[in-house]
Amino acid sequence: MKSVERDLAFRHALGVEVELIDDRGLSQLEPGLQGMAGAAWFPNAVFLSDPGAMVQRLAQAALQYAGLLTARVDRLTRQFDGLLLEGEEFKLHAKQVVLAAGAHSRALAKMAGDAVPLDTERGYHLEFDMDRPLLNRPCCPTARGFYLCPMTGRLRVAGTVELGGLTAPPSGHRLERLLDGARSVFPHLGEPDRTWMGFRPSIPDSLPVIGASKAGGDVIHAFGHGHIGLTLAPVTAQIVTDLVRGRAPSRDMSAFRADRF
Ligand SMILES: Cc1cc2nc3c(=O)[nH]c(=O)nc-3n(C[C@H](O)[C@H](O)[C@H](O)COP(=O)(O)OP(=O)(O)OC[C@H]3O[C@@H](n4cnc5c(N)ncnc54)[C@H](O)[C@@H]3O)c2cc1C
Repeated sequence: MKSVERDLAFRHALGVEVELIDDRGLSQLEPGLQGMAGAAWFPNAVFLSDPGAMVQRLAQAALQYAGLLTARVDRLTRQFDGLLLEGEEFKLHAKQVVLAAGAHSRALAKMAGDAVPLDTERGYHLEFDMDRPLLNRPCCPTARGFYLCPMTGRLRVAGTVELGGLTAPPSGHRLERLLDGARSVFPHLGEPDRTWMGFRPSIPDSLPVIGASKAGGDVIHAFGHGHIGLTLAPVTAQIVTDLVRGRAPSRDMSAFRADRF
């Protein structure tokens, strides 16, 4: 079986609908994509047209019920009456802490008593401001392995995986490669309006760490979602809510324990 067919069979087995379409079918869905061989189309896929705006709206909604303190936590210490969080000119006592610092969670998890092999897969983004962002849905030129994503008022180009840690400077050649890939599809694209590097918080077994620290339920871990942290955020939030409220989550969480390594 060819690898594409194997991949499609696997997705069908998972219940993900996918159809192979020819170039005519593709240009009906995406008039901006002409002269392609065809595509694998996911008819039930959905996407966010503005992830940043969604997070801001979620935060606004949550702030009706909660207070917000923004500060970098450098140290977490267990004390007889709870936890002490400390940063530059900042101290906070807490009964319970949810550790959800993405790729930066490793050091704090260690302070809580959990040695977790969290690393980061760095990825890169370019954006081109435009009224009509050339596509109707995210598309991936599979031979080059990156995504072209239509967003509100802009086209976003995102992808590549780089094991480069948290402190090394961004690799310019990766942005160049994305720009080159984007122009191979849309040759008229000019210079990007903005670029940035992001940290995917990744674990070697590709599963997140969700659940109590092995030293106690006063620290709840919720990090390591790798390439799909935005997608998995609602289900993780539901599980964390259960754990914070002392309820048993509705699914078996053993695969996600911090002490599985
Ligand atoms: C190029 C690229 C494309 C992606 N595409 C997708 C996609 O299509 N779909 C998808 O689902 N996911 C995608 N992802 C992955 C997704 O972005 C991550 O999985 C997700 O952002 C992880 O969420 P998080 O909340 O765990 O961490 P983050 O989003 O990194 O948030 C962590 C937060 O913790 C804070 N923090 C860190 N350290 C400290 C500290 N010491 N003290 C206090 N606060 C701290 C940070 O400021 C930040 O606010 C992509 C990632 C990249 C790089």
